[in-house]
Amino acid sequence: MNEGILIVLSGFSGAGKGTLVKELLKAYDNYALSISMTTRTPRAGELDGREYFFTSKEVFEEKIAQNGFIEYAEYCGNYYGTPRDYVERQLADGKDVILEIEIQGMRKVKQMFPKMLPLFVTPPDAKELKRRLQGRGTESGEAIAGRLKAAVRESEGIEDYEYIVVNDDLGACVKEIHSLVQAAKRSPARNEAFIDHIREELKLLSKGE
Ligand code: 5GP
Repeated sequence: MNEGILIVLSGFSGAGKGTLVKELLKAYDNYALSISMTTRTPRAGELDGREYFFTSKEVFEEKIAQNGFIEYAEYCGNYYGTPRDYVERQLADGKDVILEIEIQGMRKVKQMFPKMLPLFVTPPDAKELKRRLQGRGTESGEAIAGRLKAAVRESEGIEDYEYIVVNDDLGACVKEIHSLVQAAKRSPARNEAFIDHIREELKLLSKGE
């Protein structure tokens, strides 16, 4: 009953997903984070291979052609994609793999992995989102306006997620995500092999074998 699951963490840009994931990885050892590839330019403080694999449009499109992504999407004028190799290896290893991706990507992942757990992270209210985007201090007013517009579109898709996580108190939010993952891993839909096995065993036992 200990197979790893795929977790998709989406949420408005500025909702604090990055920090949440960092803390989650620090606090528990069952998680592996997929590092995406993007054509966006790095923000101050971001490192290639840590936040993202930063690359050119040409290299990204080559990788698309080679079926190297589980999913990819265009967001605010840049490509973002989930490299296939790492995710498949970690899942096979029994890790709970986190994809920090937006909603178009989540929908594609859902088609391929119907048992994945989609979580939506949001700040307590819209004003707080704007404050966090401005507080980051790494983007122009124009980029922030673009991200707020994207948030309006993204809010239309919240019902496609299994749970909403309100990121108000960081520590509490990390614990809550971990609890949701643990609960999801106990759902019958995610334990078909276990259920089949115990049914077979019960049948044999009831026949006295
Ligand atoms: P940012 O530029 O703020 O780092 O990311 C912009 C959006 O792209 C965020 O919503 C983030 O979750 C999403 N994103 C990051 N990596 C991927 C990816 O590999 N695939 C998809 N579909 N979205 C991603």
